[in-house]
Amino acid sequence: MKRIIVFVLSAFLFSYCTTVPLTGRRQLKFMPDSELLTMSFTQYSQFLSQHRLSTNQTQTAVVREVGVRIQQSVEKYMADNNMTDRIKDFRWEFNLVDDKQVNAFCMPGGKVVIYTGIMPICQDATGLAIVMGHEIAHAIAEHGNERMSQTMLANGLLTVGGAVVQAKNPSLTNQLLLQAAGVATNLGMLSFSRQHESEADHIGLIFSSMAGYDPREAPRFWQRMAAASGGGQQPPAFLSTHPSHEKRIQDLEAEIPAAMKYYESATRK
Ligand SMILES: [Zn+2]
Repeated sequence: MKRIIVFVLSAFLFSYCTTVPLTGRRQLKFMPDSELLTMSFTQYSQFLSQHRLSTNQTQTAVVREVGVRIQQSVEKYMADNNMTDRIKDFRWEFNLVDDKQVNAFCMPGGKVVIYTGIMPICQDATGLAIVMGHEIAHAIAEHGNERMSQTMLANGLLTVGGAVVQAKNPSLTNQLLLQAAGVATNLGMLSFSRQHESEADHIGLIFSSMAGYDPREAPRFWQRMAAASGGGQQPPAFLSTHPSHEKRIQDLEAEIPAAMKYYESATRK
């Protein structure tokens, strides 16, 4: 009997599994895309209505340009690898919000926000592409859905029918979404787990390189981030969930040779 239960349970969980593009990692996914994206789009418009867009036209234009170029690389990659389905309902948007916080995020479905506070650390379009690639990678790898699914599983918010929590408690589901996308926390872009952060670094670096942005800028950008967040002095809570700057920079250095191939073929044209 026990074995049957285990079998049914694993078959159930397996049916709610999916694979992360580029890394091939298996992940949990309970939230139906249609439901998640509808929620995400609503939350994004709400966010924009509550925040001021930057009036700096030059910076706004750079944000849009870098965003669209990375979007095109993602679309090309997905088309080349028979994964267009996974982004077919994306409604890409790239907005620069007037806010001193050092932050950026991409909500499920390609809804990007860059804060003006991160622009001086980006320095230029290439630095911005590193941030944008990283944030978009979280959305492509569906880290938001995975985190929500993990939270739901841990809190018994699921029924055998799947994620019905939305109908039962829409405000809780919306809260989960904002947290999962890194919107509703003080840590903002730094709120993802170590595993999700390294995965987003890896995937993001490839997408920004494909879009023609030099991957050698990635470690430099994270060095500037490290300096901006007080050098080596990171608070313990931050360290426990987030890769240390040093480790992240080392990992990115190691990924540069592979990313250079995409960068070179993008800039050769
Ligand atoms: Zn991240």
